[in-house]
Amino acid sequence: MTLAISIPNSPALARQSSPDAAEQARRAEALELAAHWLSLGAHLVPLRPRSKAILAGYGLKGRQLTTLNQARFHLRAGANLGLILGGPGRFACLDFEDTVLYEQWRTTLGREVNTWTERTARGVHVFFQAAGPEALQHCAAPHQADFLTAGFVTLAPSIHPSGSRYTVLDRLPIAPMTLAEQRILVPFTRPAVVRTQTVLKGEGERAPLPTARLNYQEMAREIRRRRRVSDEASRLGIEELKARGGGLDKWKARCPFHAGDDPDSMWLDDATGLWGCASTNCRAQQERSAHDVITLRAWADGVPLGRAIASLAHELGLTR
Ligand SMILES: [Zn+2]
Repeated sequence: MTLAISIPNSPALARQSSPDAAEQARRAEALELAAHWLSLGAHLVPLRPRSKAILAGYGLKGRQLTTLNQARFHLRAGANLGLILGGPGRFACLDFEDTVLYEQWRTTLGREVNTWTERTARGVHVFFQAAGPEALQHCAAPHQADFLTAGFVTLAPSIHPSGSRYTVLDRLPIAPMTLAEQRILVPFTRPAVVRTQTVLKGEGERAPLPTARLNYQEMAREIRRRRRVSDEASRLGIEELKARGGGLDKWKARCPFHAGDDPDSMWLDDATGLWGCASTNCRAQQERSAHDVITLRAWADGVPLGRAIASLAHELGLTR
């Protein structure tokens, strides 16, 4: 709050004391969004109006807004709103510097990511919440995007110093993210580090950790190389794999992805690493003719491809 009591005819004061209808609506929205973040366990900080500077008396280590009553006081006076990253809510923000970079990510690695997303002055903020025991990593890729897990970010509907307004693009539940998923979904901020832990027998100590860098495509390729589709089908409980001739590595089975009586409609080929379904009623045929071990895991578990890659990579020892 600025106290500008004794400055008559100050235009700034006039604006502040009688906000127009649009500004009143914005402040009401700020309250509503603050209530939403607080309901998720977020800690917020009030920022100065049209600024990214935290209001005096508040801070990353100091006082923060944890109740709507505290937030109401500042937001009604036109304050901007900041979200504390890391901390109690374990929030993280993928911060794209411009919308072109965001669109590129959204149509490739991030195509199955559904989460709360906001438009910033120039770019896009994509929000996540750490899942699993490990904290997410604070990473950066200059001139592309930062993966922020500490500090704070400005939230919608704050007003940027330039005058533009932060807006909510996708109003969705915030997606949980594990460290393994971070490495796969945001590899450009810091390439996925794959460690093979070798225990030297008799010494009881760990050998130095050899590291290799695998990007998303390389990790998918490695999974396809190491995991046969027939083994994955067996793990998923697809029963009665039958040899279908034409080679020892070719199988047929009852397809779990469509309703029907044909016990042999699903085909699996360990030589090519592909599987598919002969039924025209089947999603497997409608979406594409052939699929790989990653799609099989994703469909069977009902998870996005990125998460299927993460769980397979973990089981195969491709991640720490
Ligand atoms: Zn099928």
